[in-house]
Amino acid sequence: MKDFLTKTAGVVLDLIYPPALYCICCGKIIDASRPYRLCNDCMDSMKWIGERICLKCGKQLTEHNPGDICFSCREHPHQFDRGYTCTEYGTHERAIVFALKYDGRADIAETIGEIMADRMLAEFTNDELTGMYDVVLPVPVHQHKKRTRGYNQAALIAVGFSGRTGVISDAGILVRVKETHVMRSLSPDQRRENIRGAFAVRKHRAEELRGRNIMLIDDIYTTGATIDEIASLLKKAGASRVDFLSFASGADMVKGE
Ligand SMILES: [Zn+2]
Ligand SMILES: [Zn+2]
Repeated sequence: MKDFLTKTAGVVLDLIYPPALYCICCGKIIDASRPYRLCNDCMDSMKWIGERICLKCGKQLTEHNPGDICFSCREHPHQFDRGYTCTEYGTHERAIVFALKYDGRADIAETIGEIMADRMLAEFTNDELTGMYDVVLPVPVHQHKKRTRGYNQAALIAVGFSGRTGVISDAGILVRVKETHVMRSLSPDQRRENIRGAFAVRKHRAEELRGRNIMLIDDIYTTGATIDEIASLLKKAGASRVDFLSFASGADMVKGE
């Protein structure tokens, strides 16, 4: 009964004051009207992608790069067609992704899906997006990981993205068949080696990929090894176009830096 009364009092307070929420990045109390559930400080500190981006993978170009392709894309030809991203991976972006992946905060996926939808809607209309893409495919996680984590964060992000853009998402076409080592400490070539053969298209779904334009969705993009591996798999299955969208991308780095 006491519990119920506390809850009821809470409901009444919610009607008087806007419900207090917590910043998804630093945990500070914010009010519900804050976009993307971020406090002012975190909103300002996020490394939102600017004007000068790589025309291949979409990451932010450094001022040392006078061209329109990042250093990494110049060195490594890609299997995907075009990439888009929302932020450069820094401390704030990492805090959000870590909470989502390792702290059970599945609710953050919806907000990231919203950020990703806004990223694309800043450049294209809803009609253009649904015309450009037949389906959104989240990068799958291995079933062991899904069992421990309880969800595939990319699949939840894709649902949020899909709800706002109208491009349908489908988490049942791709499957991760190989568990892989943590990629963080590996070189680009080692990453490619590590991820080879890690994904498959479900046999009874393969026919659906023929002639399709696909948008892959993942939380982080670094060297592109994962996206390239999946893009080549999808193209072998007959897909016409494979683009990707990530929440955060690694910085454009000069070799040896
Ligand atoms: Zn904050
Ligand atoms: Zn690039």
